[in-house]
Amino acid sequence: MDMIVRPRRLRSSEVLRKMVRETRVDRASLIYPMFVMDGENTVEEISAMPGQFRYTVDRMGEELQRLTDAGVSSVMLFGIPAVKDEVGSQAYAEDGIVQRALRQAKKDFPDLYMITDVCMCEYTSHGHCGVLCGHDVDNDKTLELLSRTALSHAQAGADMVAPSDMMDGRIAAIRERLDDNGFTNTPIMSYAVKFASSFYGPFREAAGSAPSFGDRKSYQMDFHNRREAMKEALLDVEEGADIIMVKPAMSYLDLVREVRDNIDLPVAAYSVSGEYSMVKAAAAKGWIDEEKIVCEMAVAAFRAGTDIYLTYFAKELARFIDQGRIG
Ligand SMILES: [Zn+2]
Repeated sequence: MDMIVRPRRLRSSEVLRKMVRETRVDRASLIYPMFVMDGENTVEEISAMPGQFRYTVDRMGEELQRLTDAGVSSVMLFGIPAVKDEVGSQAYAEDGIVQRALRQAKKDFPDLYMITDVCMCEYTSHGHCGVLCGHDVDNDKTLELLSRTALSHAQAGADMVAPSDMMDGRIAAIRERLDDNGFTNTPIMSYAVKFASSFYGPFREAAGSAPSFGDRKSYQMDFHNRREAMKEALLDVEEGADIIMVKPAMSYLDLVREVRDNIDLPVAAYSVSGEYSMVKAAAAKGWIDEEKIVCEMAVAAFRAGTDIYLTYFAKELARFIDQGRIG
């Protein structure tokens, strides 16, 4: 055979394969989503997400310590309040669950970078991401509550806020509110390209945030759409977003690439609860190799162009990176 080009040449040893890798993965790119709840001295496993827990504020330090030990330096907080009401008032209460968790975390772990999910659905009695007008979420009235929530997070010590509600105009509303109150340096990571997805199923159990009626299709995106993803992302760039997120990750990597190619901001991909639970369930059955699958999913997200990866497997991935299995 007279072949000059032989791609296999560059695959001939482990050292060479690592040398020519196109995708590099770093622990600094990982964010761990974590659930905090009202109450005392409780750590509850989330049944649909084995290995993931809800922590009361007095117990969350155990997990924050494990993250620190693993070299994961960023956390995304989700709050589960004891009381919910029509307008989600615990979302922006000064002594709300996220606000108290932030103050405690900033005191005990000042080096951890604390990001907060900003939304109403964990706090409203109806489970929708905003204020209702009849059976519809009132976009513009919700903006007031979202920006109030984001501000209260910043005041409690949040390093970054991440609105996930998918209301129109919320990035501008939050930016203005933060700036008016002196938080000009608090970045906004926008869940800009967020789909109405069945991959969120286990999260709703985790956060007790399933809508009591209807669904979220009037605000989250239709998963058939690709052009609309860019429309949403570009709008949020114009409104002042600092980071653009695509959610979920695994089934939406085409859009991670699309955003990466068209927008010069950092891109984040959120590997959601359903992705986690599918891996856990299949691994428990012995059908897949959990560690290898977790590595492959993460690298695929980075290869697609994400800069930041939100994942419930953050600690494990940090270890795999340290061990040189990926990265
Ligand atoms: Zn929500």
